[in-house]
Amino acid sequence: MIISRRIKHGLVQFTFLMLLGVIAWHMFHKTPNISPDIFPYLSSVTTAQVKQCQEDTLQSPKVLWEDLLALRSTLPEKQAQALITQLQNQVSFKDLNWGIIPSTTYKKVERHRDILMQYTYYYPKKYTFPVRGKTWFEDSFGADREGGLRRHEGTDLFGPEGTPIVSVCGGEVEQLGWNRLGGERVGVRGDDGNYYYYAHLQYISPQLIKGQRIEAGEDIGGMGHTGDALTTPDHLHFGIELPNGQWINPYPFLAVWQMWGE
Ligand SMILES: [Zn+2]
Repeated sequence: MIISRRIKHGLVQFTFLMLLGVIAWHMFHKTPNISPDIFPYLSSVTTAQVKQCQEDTLQSPKVLWEDLLALRSTLPEKQAQALITQLQNQVSFKDLNWGIIPSTTYKKVERHRDILMQYTYYYPKKYTFPVRGKTWFEDSFGADREGGLRRHEGTDLFGPEGTPIVSVCGGEVEQLGWNRLGGERVGVRGDDGNYYYYAHLQYISPQLIKGQRIEAGEDIGGMGHTGDALTTPDHLHFGIELPNGQWINPYPFLAVWQMWGE
């Protein structure tokens, strides 16, 4: 009787400890929740829309950037323009006269405005284009690699070997050095929580130290063809991984950052 009670007691203790362990594991491995509408919206914003907002800002610098872009990226041009004219006449976003625009559309604009305020990818000069020099790139995100074994999880920016590569944002150097696919590669944990991946470098900037801070525009290294790019033309493979481990298409962001650099 006594033995079996001890065993029972031990079992209860063991189960309790296991439970604690599971809870602790979940607390450490909790991935941040990213609302599923955020990145589809952000990657739907076009360079032309951002360019138009840039012109709007030159005309009336007091109008909020997020208001402009939320309107231009959500509404047909005529509707957007009518509302922007009101903003230019010093009507605040809250007090805009939406006329016949339905409240569901208004809610959409408002949601996009909130996203733009939190995710500042399109905010003037907030992010830096990663290539300093002549480069060309196209949208190849999701293309087959190794005969369909994996998908292309980034954008390739081509240019002459040694072209300077810089960090697109401030953050911390998280990965540094050689890996099989990336060759000489650098990974930066951005201040926005994303992981920014720079691969196939000819060399890594010697002043980079793992765990150290890096600012937007600071040297990462030189463009090259190391790793699995050994037989391909020199290019930077640039990737953006969200804090939840999902790789997103960097192309629309790159297109806009390149524009800001002009
Ligand atoms: Zn690539």
